[in-house]
Amino acid sequence: MRESATTSSFHEIEQRVPFHRPWIGQEEEREVLDSLRSGWLTTGPKTRAFERAFAEYTHAKHAVAVNSCTAALHLSLLASGIGTDDEVITTPTTFAATANVIEHVGARPVFVDVVPDTLNIDPDRIEDAISPHTKAIIPVHFAGHPCDLDAIHAIARKQELVVIEDAAHAIESWYRDQKIGSISPCSCFSFYATKNLTTGEGGMITTDDDDVAERLRILSLHGISVDASQRYGPKGYKHWDILEAGYKYNMFDLQACLGIHQLARVETFRERRREMVERYDQAFSELPEVVPLQRRPDVTCGYHLYVVRFAVERLGVSRDQLIEAIQNHNIGIGVHFRPVHLHPYYRNKYGFAEGLCPVAEAAGERVISLPLFPTLEIDEQQHVIRTVRNVVQALRRT
Ligand SMILES: *Cc1c(COP(=O)(O)O)cnc(C)c1O
Repeated sequence: MRESATTSSFHEIEQRVPFHRPWIGQEEEREVLDSLRSGWLTTGPKTRAFERAFAEYTHAKHAVAVNSCTAALHLSLLASGIGTDDEVITTPTTFAATANVIEHVGARPVFVDVVPDTLNIDPDRIEDAISPHTKAIIPVHFAGHPCDLDAIHAIARKQELVVIEDAAHAIESWYRDQKIGSISPCSCFSFYATKNLTTGEGGMITTDDDDVAERLRILSLHGISVDASQRYGPKGYKHWDILEAGYKYNMFDLQACLGIHQLARVETFRERRREMVERYDQAFSELPEVVPLQRRPDVTCGYHLYVVRFAVERLGVSRDQLIEAIQNHNIGIGVHFRPVHLHPYYRNKYGFAEGLCPVAEAAGERVISLPLFPTLEIDEQQHVIRTVRNVVQALRRT
């Protein structure tokens, strides 16, 4: 048995197939050691190098590194001038952060339903959700499949709204012939432990706007005019000024050490996941009760998650019972996502209830994400496929 399967270092329960396993190479280890020995630990040369490489990879003019995608989204809203009494449109099929940052700036989240094939925001429903207070749209490229950005930008232009992409799942994605990260005023990426590229924790904002980039940099480090490498760099001490009450959101060099080398292999990671997605699709095409997400022909998908919807009525069980059945075979799973508007905070604050976004709500009771990461072995994936098939076939007979 392989070491990772026996030591199971980051799951409390020993799992035969974990939901995720990061792939950290010797290059990352050497780079971290190099920084540790250099004596420069905080934001510095490695962070700047990672930003340059990321901007180049995403075809963006600027990339601003921060300590999470949550911070990236928060700063993008602030740099776009979104605040109190404004409304921001997004979808409920997303992680907590997408909606929470709207709250952080004192604005109001307006949830628009998703389309059934990709679980991305439904552009046909956006205009009905626009009010005189609406200032921005945050589309989420769910599972790495780009949203319908042409339609979203057409609405944004007409209604003078800012588009801030939640590209947490979409580092490698393309919308038609444009790289995600190069299209909207701000695009926000995540390097959280389970994302397509990891720095443990970390995030990035890409933008083509010089002023926005400058504002993001200032906001990401206390609102002060120069960063530490300039304050204490080779040219000696420099005075600095507080320009606004900014945040402590900077990425530091030890994170960037991972990012630089993860980015260099990100296309290899994606190619491995793509092959696994095809194997899953192939296997489940014989099971009508297991419905994978669809992919549209005009995009390049980042393949962040392998999400399937189970036909729970047909199977006569709940999704949570299916989770238990799958987990009993030592397989790690995820749920992406139970809709944000039905979580207690949003229900209580805004009175949101079932019926607001029927497609997202139906998906929220049927989705399970299966293991999808570049070091998933074929026999591990076969175990997952066999388990899902056995669970479904057993239910058919009852
Ligand atoms: C992970 C995630 C985030 C938040 O990323 P962090 O880097 O953990 O802050 C935001 N949006 C989506 C859709 C995510 O999956």
